[in-house]
Amino acid sequence: MTAPPPTATVGVLGGGQLGRMLALAGAPLGIRCIGVEPAADPPMAVAAEVLRAPYDDPAALAELARRCDVVTIEVEHVPVDALAWLAERLVVRPSPQVVAVTQDRWLEKQAFVRLGIATAPFARPDEQTSGFETGSIVKRRLGGFDGRGQVRLERAASPRALAAAVTELGGGCVVEGVVPFERELSLVAARAADGAVACYPLVENRHRDGILRETLAPAPGAGAAATLSASAVEMVTTFMADLDHVGVLALELFEVNGRLLANEVAPRVHNSGHWTIEGATTSQFEQHLRAVAGLPLGAAAPRGPAAMVNVIGTEPEPGAVLAVAGAHLHRYGKAPRPDRKLGHVTVVAADERERDARLDELRALVGVSAST
Ligand code: AMP
Repeated sequence: MTAPPPTATVGVLGGGQLGRMLALAGAPLGIRCIGVEPAADPPMAVAAEVLRAPYDDPAALAELARRCDVVTIEVEHVPVDALAWLAERLVVRPSPQVVAVTQDRWLEKQAFVRLGIATAPFARPDEQTSGFETGSIVKRRLGGFDGRGQVRLERAASPRALAAAVTELGGGCVVEGVVPFERELSLVAARAADGAVACYPLVENRHRDGILRETLAPAPGAGAAATLSASAVEMVTTFMADLDHVGVLALELFEVNGRLLANEVAPRVHNSGHWTIEGATTSQFEQHLRAVAGLPLGAAAPRGPAAMVNVIGTEPEPGAVLAVAGAHLHRYGKAPRPDRKLGHVTVVAADERERDARLDELRALVGVSAST
């Protein structure tokens, strides 16, 4: 009998909660993760070794190159040069090219247009001197997240107001037309190196102040969902194949008049996929490790209607959360701070009614207190 291959060691740029959940998912498979994170008290450290260094620290990168079989990311905003340096030495998934495109809103929009993926109207600030009819959102090309790095302007904004917004954001912006969407959705998918794809169901995301508060999986509204799902699967599959992406990827979408518009892509595990830990056959974290380590993808089928509620700003009493039937609490071990994601709670139910009842209970515990 031949011996099984040695366990894989996966280097992860980033050491936050996504890295922590990746490391936890890797343990049963014998996959070990090593993170790189400059911030204090990295949440990943509870489950993996974390090198305390900037993402482009030469010594940390050299250590990853020496000790790892493959390198991935859990934050999008890592220096592409660091990934390129690693990619000359070992397998990097997602590739530096995928990260370069998806971390820059302008390049990402260009990719949507090139691939025929419908997206919100957009322009360079100097092309759009009076803003869009529906109102404008000026977004930083690089580095914005959770609604930060954005300025909203009323419709028909003056050129001065647009220019002031760009200056406030430090330059390098995209202007988007405000989309009067009915709801926000996302599709989390995975692609293996051989091109195999697995898609989780389309989910509905509810944001407040630009921050994800809740995810309902699958997205309610079965009737519309079949055509919407097919459209989202087409978009995500096209995008991943074109860029030869390997790993998990999340596509955030707006639903407008029964159509989908792509908002943005994250080439990594995503907050709107956290429900998959208990709610799907294979969690997005295991799926990502499978993909980047060259293992077969797992089934992405849901186990039942699920809901995920983010714990933001302040933590509820754990006992109260766990008293909700079927609640699974994930605490990231982070110090409380306004608008900071400190954890999440998932419930998986037998049917949508039960899911909604449990979600209501959770909202009363975390939803309201979470906003400050
Ligand atoms: P983003 O960082 O692009 O994901 O934006 C954060 C949030 O702002 C989104 O989840 C939406 O709720 C809102 N938003 C972003 N872009 C638009 C848009 N073009 N029209 C309407 N709302 C938007």
